[in-house]
Amino acid sequence: MPLPPVGIDLGTTNSVVAYCRYPGAAEIIRNAVGETITPSVIAFDATETPVVGRAAVQTYGFGFRPGAALFKRAMGQSTPFVSIGGRDYTPEDLSALVLSSLAADAAKSLGGRAARAVISVPAYFRDEQRRATLRAAEMAGLDCMQLINEPTAAAIAFKAEFPDESGRVLVFDLGGGTFDVSVLTGGDLSTIIDTRGDPFRGGADWDAVLMGLIAERAADVLDPGALEVPSLQLAMRREAEAAKIRLSTMPRAQVSFSHDGQSVFCEITREEFEAASVGLVDATLELVEEVLDVIGTEPDGIDDVLLVGGSTRMPMIETALTKMFGRPPRKTANPDEAVALGAALLADHIDLDAEGMVGLVAAPPDIADRSGIAAISDIANFSLGIIAVSEDGDAYVNEVMIPRGATLPAEGIKPYRHVFRIGETRQLEAFVTQGEGTGPDDVGFLGLFTLDDLPGAPDGKPCEIEISYNYDASGIGRARARLVGRTDWVEMERQDLDEAALARFDAQPPARSSAEPASILMVFDVSGSMTGPPIDDARAAARRFLESFDPNQVAIGIGVVANRSVILLPPTHDHDEVARVIRTIETGAGNTGYGNQADPFDDIYRCLGGTVGARTAVVLADGIWDNQDKAVGRARRCHSDGIEIVAIGFGSADEGFLNDISSADELSLKVDQRDLVATFGSIAQVVSRRSGLILR
Ligand code: AMP
Repeated sequence: MPLPPVGIDLGTTNSVVAYCRYPGAAEIIRNAVGETITPSVIAFDATETPVVGRAAVQTYGFGFRPGAALFKRAMGQSTPFVSIGGRDYTPEDLSALVLSSLAADAAKSLGGRAARAVISVPAYFRDEQRRATLRAAEMAGLDCMQLINEPTAAAIAFKAEFPDESGRVLVFDLGGGTFDVSVLTGGDLSTIIDTRGDPFRGGADWDAVLMGLIAERAADVLDPGALEVPSLQLAMRREAEAAKIRLSTMPRAQVSFSHDGQSVFCEITREEFEAASVGLVDATLELVEEVLDVIGTEPDGIDDVLLVGGSTRMPMIETALTKMFGRPPRKTANPDEAVALGAALLADHIDLDAEGMVGLVAAPPDIADRSGIAAISDIANFSLGIIAVSEDGDAYVNEVMIPRGATLPAEGIKPYRHVFRIGETRQLEAFVTQGEGTGPDDVGFLGLFTLDDLPGAPDGKPCEIEISYNYDASGIGRARARLVGRTDWVEMERQDLDEAALARFDAQPPARSSAEPASILMVFDVSGSMTGPPIDDARAAARRFLESFDPNQVAIGIGVVANRSVILLPPTHDHDEVARVIRTIETGAGNTGYGNQADPFDDIYRCLGGTVGARTAVVLADGIWDNQDKAVGRARRCHSDGIEIVAIGFGSADEGFLNDISSADELSLKVDQRDLVATFGSIAQVVSRRSGLILR
């Protein structure tokens, strides 16, 4: 039978592992020395073999061996945390050692290898810290089923202990080196409304306060300077923590130690300790107030306060919270076990979902089966965004795709219209951010997501692309892309970003063209009077015009008009094809005849009516059309539809008529035939300016 998965609280000072023996009933797994909690401390013995837990505290913690502690605070950094015997250890390497040790303890208890785990992380862990935790699990040979935010895990355990609890619960989690406040809600307490943390506050600060009190007394007895001796400081710290723990249940604690033949004995009362710690308690209450402020509530808007973390055993915490909320907080049996128990319950729940299997064995009748814990959803603690160019094109901005507080998993989709240059690789890239900042300087970067080749994307034609940004259930950010209606989602690859890669955002964004590709239709009068040099010059002018535009930005089409109007080529980004069609323009081309009976405006309207972006028709005529009123009426229909008409006339063309059919004065030109090529060049400039395009 497969072993049940475990839940792991991978803590800054202590770690805990739990599992569900029965469906929905979690219990702690003791470590090799019989403790329920394992200090997250590593020491390296004489053979440089790592030792984890209590033994490491005794050796590294008291300065006898090299080692490491508190490395969780540096999680996600790739620089070594310690170097031992020529080997570097990053925070994730050290975390992997703790996880291996917990997995070994679990294996011993469960009678086999526990391979799967739900691991808790602080709610404020960013993407790189979450990924580092997953890598540490992998190094430890654990398959991490999901990461869970610590307050959510605590709330799951709380809910299992107090099934009737609902409403708004504030989780006050004060550990050895970190402090977090979260407010959860929902019938199943499944939703975090807000969570804030202080990674540099915890029981160690209270130890320091007690050390101060002890040092004051010791100064009367010891030689001057003795208090600076590291070995004495270590001894005092050990005494201080032990005294602090005693003061949680006793009104006074005695402290004794000796140094260089001098003995120190003193007594500290809880009152004294509490008076000296007022500043620390107030600082924790300030964070509580900040969270209440953010969610817009007063203390009486909170139904219950839940204590989590070993340091909440100090009575001064309970007293302060009772005063603030008007009633005592709720305590689980063991505040330092709640997170691991909650993680184990979630692991059990995921198993139930996936395999219809829970617990190690069926629950005996006297054990309540709580496997029905409701679906648990974590939230995104940081907005996920992308770096985009501001509306006015002047600055880089952070565009939020998934807002902070979204229920996990969450997704934000961004559509793009893009034309891949002919022969260009179909590469995509997105700079993905984490945080609430407004621009590149005040957000964190989750990474650069790239795709080398978007399959199926056409050359030189606009296509609809979607990039989906998402957080999975563990709060890890991902991105994938697809060609709308053409391909399935393709995963984009994440790369770390260094300073050099981000330097590009120091400069102004490059000038950009109008967001939408533009369409231009060139229409040539091919009546008999154009025969000879006029049509030759018109072809040369058309080529000159074509060469002015970037095929990726502008689709160009060709029409001819005489007794009939014919579209020879609808607008296309394939400018080679446009050049080929230009070469075929002759008087009477497209079987239009040689007279002046038709006007092209119905065709222009039809041809450009359905396209997006700037639309322009450039009409070249050497004479006048037979039915001018009708032509003007139809041209106006184009104007009112937003199609710009440029009218260029030469020879006997009538200026008043040219004015009437064009959309603006600067778009109506009566020129000499020999100036046609230059005129088309300047018209290209006017059109690009009016359509927001950049000329080649
Ligand atoms: P945690 O990180 O949740 O395991 O909490 C560890 C911290 O809780 C350490 O600073 C311990 O000194 C502190 N702690 C554990 N038990 C007690 C206690 N009975 N009274 C005061 N602090 C305690």
